[in-house]
Amino acid sequence: MALAFDEYGRPFIILREQEKKSRLQGLDAQKANIAAGKSVARILRTSLGPKGMDKMLQSPDGDVTITNDGATILELMDVDNQIAKLMVELSRSQDYDIGDGTTGVVVMAGSLLEQAEKLLERGIHPIRVAEGYEMASRIAVDHLESISTKYEFSATDIEPLVQTCMTTLSSKIVSRCKRALAEIAVKAVLAVADLERKDVNLDLIKVEGKVGGKLEDTELVQGIIVDKDMSHPQMPKRIEDAHIAILTCPFEPPKPKTKHKVDIDTVEKFQTLRGQEQKYFDDMVQKCKDVGATLVICQWGFDDEANHLLMQRDLPAVRWVGGVELELIAIATGGRIVPRFQELSTEKLGKAGLVREKSFGTTKDRMLYIEKCANSKAVTIFIRGGNKMMIEETKRSIHDALCVARNLIINNSIVYGGGSAEISCSIAVEAAADRHPGVEQYAIRAFADALDAIPLALAENSGLPPIDTLTVVKSQHVKENNSRCGIDCNDVGTNDMKEQNVFETLIGKQQQILLATQVVKMILKIDDVITPSEYC
Ligand code: ADP
Ligand code: MG
Repeated sequence: MALAFDEYGRPFIILREQEKKSRLQGLDAQKANIAAGKSVARILRTSLGPKGMDKMLQSPDGDVTITNDGATILELMDVDNQIAKLMVELSRSQDYDIGDGTTGVVVMAGSLLEQAEKLLERGIHPIRVAEGYEMASRIAVDHLESISTKYEFSATDIEPLVQTCMTTLSSKIVSRCKRALAEIAVKAVLAVADLERKDVNLDLIKVEGKVGGKLEDTELVQGIIVDKDMSHPQMPKRIEDAHIAILTCPFEPPKPKTKHKVDIDTVEKFQTLRGQEQKYFDDMVQKCKDVGATLVICQWGFDDEANHLLMQRDLPAVRWVGGVELELIAIATGGRIVPRFQELSTEKLGKAGLVREKSFGTTKDRMLYIEKCANSKAVTIFIRGGNKMMIEETKRSIHDALCVARNLIINNSIVYGGGSAEISCSIAVEAAADRHPGVEQYAIRAFADALDAIPLALAENSGLPPIDTLTVVKSQHVKENNSRCGIDCNDVGTNDMKEQNVFETLIGKQQQILLATQVVKMILKIDDVITPSEYC
């Protein structure tokens, strides 16, 4: 793009390869962008809440994913509109920071865009709208702080944490066993949490899944589970008080590189070579035994001969263990990863009270449990379920629950869910609009209306008449000055979310409002869209 002037000094813009580009300007650009953003939000709207629908997505290679998680839906959808990509990014940032609330944030942004469109049509300048939204979002965030409550819990009284995780899980496919899963998630987080520093390292929680069994069989293992078995079927299946050598070097004699030449022209030479290879390997096994290892976990493989020798010398081994798992094993057992054989020493061995192999079902599926580790901090959540899609979705749901528990440990403020926080903010923002004399008040009021989208969607998805329900709940807020009233999605008979135990973390809700506002402001400020026309 270049700026030029005609003979009267009037500026004009030259687009390179103009005929190949399409260009949208001014209000048209904003309207097109808003339409794109809204259409993404519309897709997610029906997935919000405990009665939200699931989406089935098929990847180009035929893999099917069934999910309710906003971030995952958008991640798997193949969008090629730039604005739609911004919405995907929005959901991803909520997922990255908070973990939960990924659907809500997109619905919120969509509704803000919808309201903005109306204002633009009335001739209000986009910058005014953006500024008004910014003010309103600050009012809403402050208001959330004022209606939040502290949720007390301790390492012994975990019930409050479990309740909040249950809210997160209640909108997922796995809601059938939300209690059990919430307990597992909370125990896992507490096992790795540092309550004093208010820090949780989620990397120490491994989530493994195996097809088969029931969802109810999902368990928390105090240790690590690796989807591998002993390298030889006759090796012991149970090792107590194991001293583990964790190797990232191949367990085999060095291979001659292709550029070297080995001439073997006599039987003797061959036998010497063979003997040497054997000796090399024998030495390796001996070295492991000398330092006191009773189990070898290796990142690389070893050939059948080596495997046989390991079995004969009574040194159980596991091969082809992935790098991430190896790291976790090292952390859990307090061992060091040994990259070179010569460096193996007694103090680098990891220690575990029990290593056992467990088989599943009728297939020869086996997994390795490493338990009673020296550093008990690493844990594994082991998910069972009827099919692969179920397990994958459970993993995602557990991830949300883990994040919620972590957020509560970092900051134990909560707000009530079911749309109650949004309704309360909407009332506060609406009231604040009256105090602003400028044009921004229209935008602030529009923001208040946009906040209603969450309770409206929750009601609609639960089969309730949306506007009627919202009106009733809103008047309750004003009349009783009760900020806990939300949408009774499950038809429990009360819409007091405190009684229903529906909570969300304060930071999660605040982040939702801030992120949605940010992205909407960004979209509103775009007034010129230049694209290569073959894409349009
Ligand atoms: P997200 O990906 O945004 O977390 P969800 O599908 O998990 O989307 O829905 C979350 C919304 O559902 C929140 O607004 C939450 O308050 C609400 N919600 C969850 N459980 C209940 C419930 N039992 N009753 C009413 N609302 C609920
Ligand atoms: Mg959720």
